[in-house]
Amino acid sequence: MPKIEVNKEFCKSCGLCTVQCPKKIIKIGSEVNSKGYNIAEQTDESQCTGCKLCAIVCPDTAITVYK
Ligand code: SF4
Ligand code: SF4
Repeated sequence: MPKIEVNKEFCKSCGLCTVQCPKKIIKIGSEVNSKGYNIAEQTDESQCTGCKLCAIVCPDTAITVYK
């Protein structure tokens, strides 16, 4: 089953991945990294198709997709 991993320290909370995900299963979470940014998180791993759009759009290469 595909899943994503967000590098917590790379995320800058821009929200681009939340907009691009066709399944709308990424949100900006409540966890904050050391720079003060809220970290993006996947809400429903079971719906992830592994399309990698979230990883491609992330300007900070914070997302890795595992298929
Ligand atoms: S790989 Fe595709 S479906 Fe999975 S979280 Fe990223 S954008 Fe969404
Ligand atoms: S696109 Fe990247 S930097 Fe922006 S919220 Fe998503 S994971 Fe964080």
